[in-house]
Amino acid sequence: MQPNELLKIAETHGDPIYVYDSSKIIAQFNRLTKAFRTVPKLKLNYAAKALSNISILKLMNSLGSGLDTVSIQEVQLGLLAGFKPESIIFTPNGVSLEEIEEAAKLGVRINIDNLSVLEQFGSKHPDIPVCIRINPHVMAGGNSNISVGHIDSKFGISIHQIPHLLRIVNLTQMNINGIHMHTGSDILDIDVFLYASEILFDTAKNFKNLDFIDFGSGFKVPYKEGDIETNVEELGKKLGSRFNEFCAEYGKELTLAFEPGKFLVSEAGYFLTKVNVVKQTTSTVFASVDSGFNHLIRPMLYGAHHQIVNISNTKGRERYYSVVGYICETDTFASNRRINEISEGDILCFKNAGAYCFTMASNYNSRFRPAEVLWHEGKAILIRERENFDDLIRNQVDVKDLFTTKKEKAAVK
Ligand SMILES: *Cc1c(COP(=O)(O)O)cnc(C)c1O
Repeated sequence: MQPNELLKIAETHGDPIYVYDSSKIIAQFNRLTKAFRTVPKLKLNYAAKALSNISILKLMNSLGSGLDTVSIQEVQLGLLAGFKPESIIFTPNGVSLEEIEEAAKLGVRINIDNLSVLEQFGSKHPDIPVCIRINPHVMAGGNSNISVGHIDSKFGISIHQIPHLLRIVNLTQMNINGIHMHTGSDILDIDVFLYASEILFDTAKNFKNLDFIDFGSGFKVPYKEGDIETNVEELGKKLGSRFNEFCAEYGKELTLAFEPGKFLVSEAGYFLTKVNVVKQTTSTVFASVDSGFNHLIRPMLYGAHHQIVNISNTKGRERYYSVVGYICETDTFASNRRINEISEGDILCFKNAGAYCFTMASNYNSRFRPAEVLWHEGKAILIRERENFDDLIRNQVDVKDLFTTKKEKAAVK
């Protein structure tokens, strides 16, 4: 999006504010779909937790995407946005059997990631098909050195437990309809992805009634110049042909599924904040903005890099700034960044603000969560209002007379 378009949105709707460009989301969706065009049955299930505004979910649904959900509330959001239950997959970690049963009752696909719940669910509901989440324990050890590591991860059923898993399936006579992995940020390059996929294929051979194999996500998008970006075209070629080969061996045309979050929405997002104060200390120039890690926690939580552009002064001389928030704790967005000269009142734009930004926002310091705008076909559409004071106190119970002394009570009488 152009700086003047973003500035206009900040003027109209105030700041801080999140803006999402629908055309970028659509382009990413089409790019991934095209990369896997050789696979007859492809299903992309957008990972709702990256950005869960209902208008974004509706956009995904309109593109033909399914939905990957990690809580019963995300399942409900998906249904509200118009997804068919069978287009939703519930992929939680460490949730109760009751929550999984609730999702199953709504008709969504179930993905189970531990043997305890698998056995309980299979015993009670042998007729409901279940997908299993496998942990292939694949690590990239630098220099494309791939290994089956000893990483202790809380996610998935270890491939070393497959014999135990098979005993449970046999005992309960449950129906396994899918095999899934999501190794998250472990997978950086294509060779690692392919290596893990072979483990998934090996596992898949144990089950006769599969409908799909779900390769999760882990697609990288660039946050700054020189960043690694997953070459989805190359992955599509290599994994696509290997997948088709596997289906021929297996004797059935399976669906190849992915659950991209970041890949679809990260680059579509812009976060606009206003500079309250420019403060020169002995060694640093701080630009303090009207936001903080309550609105965008990734830099403080993961050390994530978000490019910051001064859209009020795009031609200004570049100087070094530390961009900080207004939270009363260390709250650094960026240290010693080259940014076009900043004056108080300027609007700073954070790039890659689509994924895991608004969805991780909180009310810390009793601040309101920002508004959200969808930039669609040249129009700025408000898709979430900024919170207000009523939102902050909505669920607080203001108990009357809780700390009134006996004496005061007596005085009232
Ligand atoms: C978070 C999550 C994703 C999405 O990961 P991205 O890195 O955002 O693409 C996919 N699958 C599962 C099960 C997840 O928990």
